[in-house]
Amino acid sequence: MTNNNPGCLGYLFQLFGINLGGKTTTNTLDAFPYGIRDDFLSPSELSFYKILTQVIPNQYAICPKVSLKDIFFVTEKDRSKHQTYFNKISKKHVDFLICSAQSMKPVCGIELDDTSHARDDRIKRDEFVNRLYEEAGLKLIRFSNKKAYTISEVQEKVQSIVNYEQFVSTIRGTTSLGKLEDTNEVPKCPKCKSPFVLRTAKSGKNKGKQFYGCVNYPKCRETIDID
Ligand SMILES: [Zn+2]
Repeated sequence: MTNNNPGCLGYLFQLFGINLGGKTTTNTLDAFPYGIRDDFLSPSELSFYKILTQVIPNQYAICPKVSLKDIFFVTEKDRSKHQTYFNKISKKHVDFLICSAQSMKPVCGIELDDTSHARDDRIKRDEFVNRLYEEAGLKLIRFSNKKAYTISEVQEKVQSIVNYEQFVSTIRGTTSLGKLEDTNEVPKCPKCKSPFVLRTAKSGKNKGKQFYGCVNYPKCRETIDID
């Protein structure tokens, strides 16, 4: 902050044409002090993006730098609490969001963790973000941030999520992705990387219905419903 900073109240006054004295300022609404940044993506983000374009099938869109408030919404009904929860996501963004190209429905988020992620405040932030994705039911993949990435390391992590999503769409019959290859194969559990197995619900409201569950049940409760 500079000494010329008029502060919040000063800006408000300026908005209404009132100058609090001192240095004369030009009308801030007439000026357009903007330029195009030449670092929309950092070198490592760009390197990662280029690999994503090779790894992600055409049925998916890659969106860089998406605000979390555009991906998630606050389910809290209480107005005062709502704002607090909204503030927690309103200024955060995810490095990449993978969406279904047809519907632009989010499929998974991808975060590149740089060295700042070891800092206390970042660890808290990451814990919050991890929980946000988990509770809302969206997959999140993390990569440690490097100057350069290899295709195989990115492919391995991303492919399991993409296979999973395609498989879910296929068994639910909701896919409009056209011809799907290699999706008859049951994907691995995105949580613990173990295979899914076809099971039948023995009790509860879904009794008798089939679903895919992680082979590690009850240790891992990841399931795919067949609707
Ligand atoms: Zn599992």
